Amino acid sequence: MAKKQFKTESKQLLNLMINSIYTHREIFLREIISNASDAIDKLLYKSITEPDVPVSREDLKISVSIDKDARTITVSDNGIGMSKEDLDTNLGVIAHSGSSEFKKGIESNDVDIIGQFGVGFYSAFLVSDKVTVRTKAYGSDQAYQWTSEGSDGYSIKECEKDSWGTDVIMHIREDNEEEDYSEYLSSYMIEDLIKKYSDYVRWPIHMMLEKGAMEETGEKDENGEPKKEWRTHVEDTVVNSMVPIWQRPKKDVSDDDCKAFYKEKFHDFEDPVSVIRVNAEGAVSYKAMLFVPKVAPYNFYSRDFEPGLQLYSSGVLIMDKCKDVLPDCFRFVRGIVDSPDISLNISREMLQHDRQLQMIKSNLEKKIKAELSRLLKDDRESYEAFYKSFGPQLKYGVVDGFGANAELLKDLIMLHSYDMDKLVTFKEYVEAMPNGQDRIYYASADSIARAKQLPQNEQIREKGYDILLMSEEVDDFMIRTLRSYEEKQFCDVTGSDLGLETEEEKKESDAKEESEKETLDFIKDALGDKVEKVRLSRKLKSHAVCLTTDGEISLEMEKYFASVPGTDMGDIPKAKRVLEINADHPIYQVLKDTIANDKEKAKTMAEVMYGQALLIAGMPIDDVLDYSDKVFGLF
Ligand code: ADP
Ligand code: MG
Repeated sequence: MAKKQFKTESKQLLNLMINSIYTHREIFLREIISNASDAIDKLLYKSITEPDVPVSREDLKISVSIDKDARTITVSDNGIGMSKEDLDTNLGVIAHSGSSEFKKGIESNDVDIIGQFGVGFYSAFLVSDKVTVRTKAYGSDQAYQWTSEGSDGYSIKECEKDSWGTDVIMHIREDNEEEDYSEYLSSYMIEDLIKKYSDYVRWPIHMMLEKGAMEETGEKDENGEPKKEWRTHVEDTVVNSMVPIWQRPKKDVSDDDCKAFYKEKFHDFEDPVSVIRVNAEGAVSYKAMLFVPKVAPYNFYSRDFEPGLQLYSSGVLIMDKCKDVLPDCFRFVRGIVDSPDISLNISREMLQHDRQLQMIKSNLEKKIKAELSRLLKDDRESYEAFYKSFGPQLKYGVVDGFGANAELLKDLIMLHSYDMDKLVTFKEYVEAMPNGQDRIYYASADSIARAKQLPQNEQIREKGYDILLMSEEVDDFMIRTLRSYEEKQFCDVTGSDLGLETEEEKKESDAKEESEKETLDFIKDALGDKVEKVRLSRKLKSHAVCLTTDGEISLEMEKYFASVPGTDMGDIPKAKRVLEINADHPIYQVLKDTIANDKEKAKTMAEVMYGQALLIAGMPIDDVLDYSDKVFGLF
């Protein structure tokens, strides 16, 4: 029978694994057992959802046996089994562990990354030179046998098997100078590995283990006492404790155990920044083990990402990604909720309205918030790593639902401080405010560096006030949703009123503005409806011009609207532009003189000044060629 080839990627991986000195060979058993456990879960799930599948929970089990003479380890389960097609698709390609990091590992031959991941079924080849899978799908009459000796391919043929389920038979390699493979043929070793890696598997893992005891032989010794001797027998033993890690008391599970569990279960290769454990009793009882990842999955900010927690009812998986227990603003959290109060065969529609779930959700919201706050306080470095990945999500969370979660999230937000040149919270900003400052200033541009350079910052910096620098699209929307923090109003440095002048100063400026009315009107006329207003700047110190806005929409928001694909430019909401001119700048006098002598040229100057203001604000100039001609026309 012709051999089928593995998909290219699988082949690469197999070669890599077989030919490299692999430090974590022993994980193969964990992988094969976890597949067996998944297969049983699937069968049980089928029996719950399809009433005509009679499966009794007590019979479901995994067995591990060793044949020293044949040099094989066999892992058997009575789970869902595989059809011929299943064998072909599931064991012919590494589709399932295929995260992007993992693939990178293969491309760069980085054994370490692969080692951290676990490689699923293929890990059997770490210790075997041949793997045979005998399997019968539940409800089918025909069993099939899959065989492979490694990277040169596999074959499938019909075979005999009494009942449904799967046997994975691993033919252990011969020892060589570097590696002792025979140690895996010892029951002690295998028992240890099961305890180490698969203890929490919910299904019993059986092994025939040798037990010994001093037993009476039936004879008497010289003193007339019953004679005893050491006798051994083989006993069917359940090796694992079967208590899932999240069900075990906190004191029995180390932080490292939790992290290792997280990485394996959720296919992450980084430790989580936090592990949250909840053991709630009361109106609704549940246990939860939640993880705050450090790195966002590659598809986190796309539609493909499916948030949710694994939902169990007394250890039985009900749903893989249940959204209804996880607050959407914390959608990056992974983990498990297990509650005996949730009925096993509850439908998805009903889950949404389930009161118990709602309670769990609001409870978890508090726990997650508390943990993130703690992290921010006690472990800034980890929080910043987390924030780098998920900060934008927290900001969207503030904006979502017209600010419904703003209160919850606002103290988790950080922005870049001009003064301190690092990320700060609003609280930290406010605490550092000098006497007399009553607003929170922010500058927004397409990068932090540009935001820092905005000419509008000058007056604020001169006062000695800090400015929050922002560069993400969502930032402006977030600030506008919040409006204020601890009664301190947020104030856009490009807004028209920075609230910096005393009544006295205001009067003075107003008077000055009035006296320059003629010049300002001339510029306004020259620019027409390109700008809403032209006024003397109160915030510019050394720069000549800047653009500010009146009203709700800022320039950054306008840019954002314009960037949304498929938007009709005629339809986008526009910021009301105000051109501010610095009367103390030499160019102002030049302009005034030109107005007196050459109105046409002065008009061009006004247009060029506006163009410069647009450039400084990072806004596009409509007709670049025309603009360039105007600039050269001035020389
Ligand atoms: P993963 O477990 O992450 O999906 P694996 O490489 O471990 O990836 O397994 C690949 C697939 O092979 C599984 O998703 C499953 O469909 C199938 N499989 C492996 N072992 C078994 C088994 N004992 N019973 C039924 N299906 C299995
Ligand atoms: Mg697996």
